[in-house]
Amino acid sequence: CGIVGILGKVDAAPRIVDSLKRLEYRGYDSAGVATLVDGALVRRRAEGKLRNLEAVLEKSPLQGTSGIGHTRWATHGAPTVSNAHPHQAGSVAVVHNGIIENYLDLRDEVTAAGAVLATETDTEVVAHLIDLAISRGLSPQEAVAEVLPRLKGAFALAILFAGEEDLLIGARKGSPLAIGHGDGEMFFGSDAIALSPFTDRITYLEEGDWAALTRSGARIFDQGNRPVERPEAKSSVTS
Ligand code: GLU
Repeated sequence: CGIVGILGKVDAAPRIVDSLKRLEYRGYDSAGVATLVDGALVRRRAEGKLRNLEAVLEKSPLQGTSGIGHTRWATHGAPTVSNAHPHQAGSVAVVHNGIIENYLDLRDEVTAAGAVLATETDTEVVAHLIDLAISRGLSPQEAVAEVLPRLKGAFALAILFAGEEDLLIGARKGSPLAIGHGDGEMFFGSDAIALSPFTDRITYLEEGDWAALTRSGARIFDQGNRPVERPEAKSSVTS
């Protein structure tokens, strides 16, 4: 339902929760965040309201300046902690808005390849496909470029990779995603409101686009994996 991604200079988790709160008006049933701590993916998730996630984070704080977060409106799988995003497979963590229509076929495929599914969601399979591609020797960017065309349905995705402190990848097809440009920081948000605590400099991805962010900027590709330029706009949404 709501997506935030941060490559920042200070701890990401509190900023992700702040941003997700601005998306509360959209409704959701659970929430979660993942960051990199010494290069390792670490997640915190909770059912229900964001204050439940905040309570989890108070008990078990999450360091790390690179992170992704999500508020979920369940479509596939009950609104439980284990079905809450981010979903993780090996070195890959994913948050997703929308529906992966061919997820049953893809679940069969990754299971046959040795993956063990931990959730009932349509989303988890995306993390497994990308992780399997990386295990075959592809870079994160190459893996995403290979997997995206295989996903049917509507999605916005933000993806965080173990050992990659300066990389976030996001994709947009049928569900919106925007890039926020900060000062030595970069962001993903499912809309300008999500980005409003961080920056008013926004680039909207176009249908089928995906983008690789580092703290120094964004590289954007169309659905044929060709590099493209998309304009930067000034958001009128202020925090
Ligand atoms: N289909 C996904 C799920 O059920 C994402 C739902 C959403 O857009 O929040 O987990």
